[in-house]
Amino acid sequence: MAKKLLIATHNSGKVREFSRMLSAPDFDVAFEVVGLGDLGIDLDVEETGTTFEENAVLKARAYAKVSGVLTLADDSGLSVDALDGAPGIHSARYGGGGLDDGGRVRLLLANMESVPGWDRTARFIAVLALVGAELNGLPGVQGGLITSEGTLEGAIAHEPIGANGFGYDPVFWLASRAKTTAQLSGPEKDAVSHRGVALRGLRNILRAINVS
Ligand code: IMP
Repeated sequence: MAKKLLIATHNSGKVREFSRMLSAPDFDVAFEVVGLGDLGIDLDVEETGTTFEENAVLKARAYAKVSGVLTLADDSGLSVDALDGAPGIHSARYGGGGLDDGGRVRLLLANMESVPGWDRTARFIAVLALVGAELNGLPGVQGGLITSEGTLEGAIAHEPIGANGFGYDPVFWLASRAKTTAQLSGPEKDAVSHRGVALRGLRNILRAINVS
């Protein structure tokens, strides 16, 4: 029977991306991927850290403890140079709790109205934390924990374009593709995304515990 891997996030966009990447044939692992809902976990972990890494570790440790299952958590966000790195670790709550993805995108565009094209550089950042007792003894693992970071460089478009993805994808412009990440197919985004880079950084570890 395949080993269970809990994707510890309430964000359905992220669950979709992790499930897709983990089940891609070239990733070559065979976990039974489960979400928080599948395990009946409705715990909300407060993101009290001051960095993506601190928050990813907080979430992975807390959900591994309540589930007893090998747990992958991420903390990610958008860092815009013209806004001194905002929304950063606050990306999911930019503008307060009342906004949805569309509202946050509109707020971002409004806050950047006077910023010219060449100054609109930004990056997506993701830090993944994998927690499980079975990781101990593997390279890079300390106290049952390993982390991995990925980034994707781009720029903030002047208006939303594209219908795929989630969050800030409609305004995240990739000059090399002349497209936003919301215009990429799922596998195209996985090949370049911050989460894809970070997950591939854990591939050897995931393979090692998958066969044990
Ligand atoms: P958290 O990691 O759950 O705190 O939230 C990260 C937030 O950053 C998401 O809710 C999105 O707003 C944004 N974000 C992270 N990754 C992506 C992405 O791949 N596309 C678009 N927005 C993203």
